[in-house]
Amino acid sequence: MSTGPVKALSIRNLTKTYNNGVQALRGIDLDVTEGDFYALLGPNGAGKSTTIGIITSLVNKTAGDVEIFGHNIETDLEAAKACLGVVPQEINLNQWDNVYNCVYNPAGFYGLSAKRSKERAEEVLRELQLWDRREETARNLSGGMKRRLMIARALVHEPRLLILDEPTAGVDIEIRRSMWGYLRRINESGTTIILTTHYLEEAENLCRHVGIIDAGEIVENDRMQTVLRKLHQEVFVLNLEEPVPASFRLEGFNPIVLNEHEIEVEVYKDKNLNQLFSALNSAGIHVSSMRNKSNRLEELFMRLVERREQEHTRMVAEPEQQI
Ligand code: ADP
Repeated sequence: MSTGPVKALSIRNLTKTYNNGVQALRGIDLDVTEGDFYALLGPNGAGKSTTIGIITSLVNKTAGDVEIFGHNIETDLEAAKACLGVVPQEINLNQWDNVYNCVYNPAGFYGLSAKRSKERAEEVLRELQLWDRREETARNLSGGMKRRLMIARALVHEPRLLILDEPTAGVDIEIRRSMWGYLRRINESGTTIILTTHYLEEAENLCRHVGIIDAGEIVENDRMQTVLRKLHQEVFVLNLEEPVPASFRLEGFNPIVLNEHEIEVEVYKDKNLNQLFSALNSAGIHVSSMRNKSNRLEELFMRLVERREQEHTRMVAEPEQQI
């Protein structure tokens, strides 16, 4: 029997319906391979926090299975937890503890001996450059140091999987970049990392694979390079002099009708604006103005969701193509 790569995380048909009836997850499947650096992205309200909440046992799932290194979080919770380190979005340190105890005390909760806890506390505090600050009260640390301390705390029991929820939200660009350095090193030393982020640049810099979630469904799950290739294009919004014709062709530019006077088009790097305008001319469409869409991550989400909706509409309209 062949054994595939080890799965750090395996999610099958995970659903979550909150008490108020909101269907936050609609049956997601997700695998993250050991050693990977994985980005979980998606617009606000997509279901990222719910997914992470379930993996970390803070949120009860409605149905489905979650395994962490083969340990089911329902039937084998202690073993699953031992494999997992979590850095939450909000700073939740015991602010009156000193830096050392913020890391040393949780080690005991994971069952490390006092001797091992001491060794590990020193190791992780040195790794995150906080050893010289070990006597200081946590509340006196800068924002960047507090985040580093939360990473140190999450690593003290040597988890094989580290999950970070928006690790650099609200920190300045210098701290963000130095944190990328730490995270890269942790990953290179063998720890699998999953992070959520609002910064495409962060995911682009760190992650090898990416999953994009929207409205409780995984809409993309691929290598980062493959997903980014979809961005090697510019998206323009065209304002039209006349109302958008009922039907028209703009081969190769994937037009989307936004409203009566606006369409959106993609211009891939193998095409140029002259080709776009000659296609528009052939279609009898006259453009009065155009603008470039800017936010790349938002743009990526929008394109994926719109494409999915178009495919869905096509499949409903032309059911024979499903086969
Ligand atoms: P994200 O982290 O991607 O922004 P969330 O997982 O927080 O998304 O939310 C997914 C959906 O579930 C949203 O519609 C949100 O309003 C809803 N939701 C999240 N938490 C709760 C809750 N505790 N009770 C009810 N609905 C919730």
